[in-house]
Amino acid sequence: MKTIHRIFIACFALSCVESIIFAGILENVMEGNAYIIDLTYPLNGKNAHWPVGAYEPFKYEVIASLKKDKVFSGKYSTPEHLGTHIDAPNHFEPNQPSVDQIPFEQLVGPAVVMNILEKVNNDPDYTLSVADILTWEKNNGVIPHGAIVLLYTGWGKRWNNNEKYKNMDNCSRMHFPGYSKESALFLINERTIKGIGIDTLSGDRGMCSDFQVHHIINGAGKYILENIANLDKLPPKGATLILAPIKIEGGSGGQCRIWALLPE
Ligand SMILES: [Zn+2]
Repeated sequence: MKTIHRIFIACFALSCVESIIFAGILENVMEGNAYIIDLTYPLNGKNAHWPVGAYEPFKYEVIASLKKDKVFSGKYSTPEHLGTHIDAPNHFEPNQPSVDQIPFEQLVGPAVVMNILEKVNNDPDYTLSVADILTWEKNNGVIPHGAIVLLYTGWGKRWNNNEKYKNMDNCSRMHFPGYSKESALFLINERTIKGIGIDTLSGDRGMCSDFQVHHIINGAGKYILENIANLDKLPPKGATLILAPIKIEGGSGGQCRIWALLPE
């Protein structure tokens, strides 16, 4: 069977137009005509983790070595919400899909990248406004159907310094940017998106305590990607995302490999 036919079959679950676009993009990848950016941080014990409750650092232990056992093998433990990961819709809302139940067609889509770097430089508590979204649309066109909206805040440059990444004040309150409640409502009610993502610890800004963005997005059956790497390398539009979350039965989320595909 020709490659292109196999791709069409693999994409049967996507809508027709999406299938054709996605098939073309995958064909480009296989023919070496695409540029691939990995938006995933490597997992290790130094990754920042949510600083409350039973959340713990990532742990890895060698349980067999080539020298001693003639085979190399390890085991690991991690909270679901550590490193580059996905919040499944059941993370904040009942009766929503768990991470293993998110269908493939929701895990691929056009990336929309909103850049609020300058505003965050002036205010680490800044949240994406509806006006920011409308400005993006003025420059790039209406957010496409089925988009995965990513918020580039510049916070990724702090990734290797946990204290700076969490940016806690004397009252143990974190300060980093996020989506506003209004922007989340706009994306859910006025546009047709598959999910949202951000290059910080949370879709809500660090100082929030009511997680309104999580409730709005998860309540609509959508997911949130957090701790996304390399967002500075993506254009405002034109990339296609492929998400590959770990399949934990009934899980509230989990580590997620994220690739961005761009035509060369
Ligand atoms: Zn999470």
